Amino acid sequence: MEKILEVQDLRVYYDLPQGTVKAVDGVSFEVYDGEIFGIAGESGSGKSTLALAIPRLLRPPAKIVSGKILFMGRDLLTLDDKDLRKIRGREISMIFQDPNTYLNPVYFTGYQVAEVYEAHRGGAFKKYLGEVVKLFKTVKIADPERRVFTYPHQMSGGMKQRVLISMAIAERPRLIIADEPTSALDVTIQAEIMDLLNEIKKEIRTSIIFITHDLSLLLEIADRIMIMYAGKVVEIGRADEIAKDPMHPYTKALLATLRYERKKRLYTIPGSLPSLIKPPSGCRFHPRCLFAKDVCREKEPQILNINGRKVSCILYGDEYEPGSQS
Ligand code: SF4
Repeated sequence: MEKILEVQDLRVYYDLPQGTVKAVDGVSFEVYDGEIFGIAGESGSGKSTLALAIPRLLRPPAKIVSGKILFMGRDLLTLDDKDLRKIRGREISMIFQDPNTYLNPVYFTGYQVAEVYEAHRGGAFKKYLGEVVKLFKTVKIADPERRVFTYPHQMSGGMKQRVLISMAIAERPRLIIADEPTSALDVTIQAEIMDLLNEIKKEIRTSIIFITHDLSLLLEIADRIMIMYAGKVVEIGRADEIAKDPMHPYTKALLATLRYERKKRLYTIPGSLPSLIKPPSGCRFHPRCLFAKDVCREKEPQILNINGRKVSCILYGDEYEPGSQS
């Protein structure tokens, strides 16, 4: 399958008066043509920073310190602003959590979507209203001819998110980055938006990076999943494999919380996310890990490739002998 995106050893740091926050610290992964690639982790794991880093939308004090972001073979970190603007919205687009932040309250929603075409193709935006009606049909907005002339406050949260999705797909991008796109919606609407994204993926043959703190959503929608912890990748694998046989202790713990939730019981992973200014030595998960050994405090585990799965844990390395305490 064609590789659409390849992120190599990306580091994004925030320079704050208290110190340097290593929000994304040596992250590598690939996204293939036509797949939904899920990224999960607790808030503060670095996933939203990563989402903004890919199309280079980060603002100071965040800075990309090193790495490569290869989109269709071109390193986005080497492009100038003019070339980046051509890619953003046209070849890579984004969907965010809160549509209200991105929709102008005093402007018809249809006009706002038409402006996406105007920005990329030129001419007056009104000539694109017919295209917008088609887009509204694609994202299943009922009565699209009338809805084009509707203000955001006249729409429900789910419908506004559909408007945002229509903006994101206007130019049929190769990659859509959706950062917590359903978190603000109730469960029924959430399921409808997930179904819609799945249909869109097939209809316009795009790839989607779907970012969420809710692993259960990804298990339903994603082809492959990457789990992040404290700025690091801990596991990457096919969604069905991760559901059936999680390898990393953190992934196991996340899945355990879901199993308890289903039984209407509460289970939380002991401890909390560490400081990213002074993260724990060795494996960053060791203070919370039920399987931690002495070596985990000293040595940072490398990413291992095991039968197509990627996992960063000493338990799977050659150097580790089961039964040893160190
Ligand atoms: Fe746990 Fe050690 Fe594996 Fe980290 S490296 S997840 S502390 S067993």
